[in-house]
Amino acid sequence: MVIKDAKFITSNTRADLCPQTDLPEYAFIGRSNVGKSSLINMLTNRLKLAKTSSFPGKTQLINHFLINDDWYLVDLPGYGWAKVSKDSREAWRKMILYYMKNRPNLACVFVLLDSRLPPQKADLEFMELLGTMGVPFVLIFTKTDKQSGTKTDMNIALYLKTLKETWEELPMYMKSSSSTKEGREEILQFISDVNQR
Ligand code: GDP
Repeated sequence: MVIKDAKFITSNTRADLCPQTDLPEYAFIGRSNVGKSSLINMLTNRLKLAKTSSFPGKTQLINHFLINDDWYLVDLPGYGWAKVSKDSREAWRKMILYYMKNRPNLACVFVLLDSRLPPQKADLEFMELLGTMGVPFVLIFTKTDKQSGTKTDMNIALYLKTLKETWEELPMYMKSSSSTKEGREEILQFISDVNQR
């Protein structure tokens, strides 16, 4: 897919204030620092479409970007910030649950995982939530340029082994690097294929 156009549309805390649309949307989420903003900028070929994150203040926003006037890319607020209060975590959870319940056009959630790390509780819990809600998701193992391909593949194999303990069917996964652009074509092709269904 060629990205001809990428426009920022809205930032909201509530799904009902997000663009009213029949166009499909694809959301990106992950623990803080996983490389979400870098990946969004890499996919769209825009240097600063998504702001690389600093510690969130009180407002965590759902950001909608319209791509090629054809589909929305959604930057969801991340989770797993070490210093976040219980109240903020609960507010995040409510926001995400409400978002997932109220976006019938949500085609897929990309769950970003750092390809160097073992399975993290926050990610596994988030996948459980997606499973419970029946939201389709795909895993993206990020920052693959930071270690050898063999190490990445070994880590992914271990990850999938952990998932097998709870999931009957393993989710689809892809690898990405914002530095080498690994994964760009595959992710955009996947979106293009789902859009055409
Ligand atoms: P976010 O918090 O998930 O939005 O993460 P960012 O995109 O802000 O990235 C966090 C840090 O990791 C930044 O210092 C990025 O430059 C770095 N980073 C993100 N993706 C990659 C990647 O694919 N390769 C490398 N080497 N660094 C990355």
